[in-house]
Amino acid sequence: MKKKQYKVILISMSGVRVYNKKLLEVGLTLPGFVDRSKVIASLPSLGLLTLAAYTPKNWTVIYKELDAYTEDDLANIEQEQPDLIAFSSLTARINETYKISRLFRSKGIKTVIGGLHVSALPEEALNYADAIVQGEGELIWQQLLADVEHNALAQLYSSLKNKKYIYHFDDTVIPRYDLLDISKYNRITLQTTRGCPLHCSFCAASRTISSYKKKPIAQIERELNKVFEIWDKPFIELADDNTFIDKKWAKDLLKLFANYNMKWFTESDISLAYDDELLELLSKSNCSQVLIGFESTTANSLKGIDRTNWKFKQFDKYLKAIDKIQSYGISVNGCFILGFDSHTKEIFKETEQFITDSNLSEVQLTLLTPFPGTDLYKQYKKENRLLNNNLWEKYTLFDVTFIPKNFSVEELENEFQALMTKIYAEEVVKKRKSIFRQTLKNKILSRQ
Ligand code: SF4
Repeated sequence: MKKKQYKVILISMSGVRVYNKKLLEVGLTLPGFVDRSKVIASLPSLGLLTLAAYTPKNWTVIYKELDAYTEDDLANIEQEQPDLIAFSSLTARINETYKISRLFRSKGIKTVIGGLHVSALPEEALNYADAIVQGEGELIWQQLLADVEHNALAQLYSSLKNKKYIYHFDDTVIPRYDLLDISKYNRITLQTTRGCPLHCSFCAASRTISSYKKKPIAQIERELNKVFEIWDKPFIELADDNTFIDKKWAKDLLKLFANYNMKWFTESDISLAYDDELLELLSKSNCSQVLIGFESTTANSLKGIDRTNWKFKQFDKYLKAIDKIQSYGISVNGCFILGFDSHTKEIFKETEQFITDSNLSEVQLTLLTPFPGTDLYKQYKKENRLLNNNLWEKYTLFDVTFIPKNFSVEELENEFQALMTKIYAEEVVKKRKSIFRQTLKNKILSRQ
């Protein structure tokens, strides 16, 4: 007997807008400021493409990204008459997701929401959706769809509370890259690790969904081959939190990557600079850039950032490590956060000075943000320091969302904007890029 057919629409709430209008105006005139956020906004949702791969054959899957959208876009989704709409959303777009979810529910369509935010605050999210996926969705997904088929959808599906849903990379499937119109993208995502064993107070990504795990190299090879079926010279962005934690495994990964005609990008901590063999392999694998969270520019302000004070202990090596990685032809995008309790007014000058003294080819400045699920969120909630009760639109990394310790909110906003204006000024960005170009030239000359 032919199985009954069902339809699911997977919606990625892509794109994050800077809430602070003044900063937006400044930012849009500054080269280098909006670039990285634009890249992130334009990445496909690997999580949803993976769920698509776990969807049984009697379900039709439609994948959509909703950045800017119109009433007609929503009407078109409704006209598809799906049996289920599944959303993936970050904190900054969660209120919009809730609104759209409510709208579809009012039309009789069932909705489910997953992702970091709802994993941290499932009770809040349940006010707006029929079901919530907390943690890893891969093993939950087929059960959830079966429950829709039997009209028995539960409210909460959790890999954090139910061990049978914990996902092992050995069981993984290849994401449905074929659902993408690849001509719309300039990067494609692939995941090789999930989570991070360091425990930074502000980091939601490293453990809200899963503890640290690595994918088998053979599986990564299968996924890469799939990407190359739809794109012959891709730019790959690894959807990892911290790729090179396990150096032995990472070297095997880099040997694999060296076999492919691609450029790629990932995120790491500074420890990759301490392993020459790893750097050599990284260079041969055509890695374009690593994004490294240096977090702060003075030793003292790094105290307590992670639970073992690991980043504080690395501070003395920061400048040398940047030079070393870049001497292998790999650009370092250095990330710095402003607004820690250890920061006083001096931090803005100190940050500018550190960045000027370094040879970083790119820089990312953000404001400290207490995302739900982090130690920081728990601390500020306890201390009654969270601002704007549930105005999640402000969780953009460029808006003040808490009461700072050593500044007023306005001071932090103004000093941050002033620093952005200096760090992203056209001539300053050009200078950073030209220093890196010279590093690349030196590398080529040293090999002749
Ligand atoms: S090192 Fe990076 S990924 Fe790991 S916990 Fe810290 S901020 Fe998160």
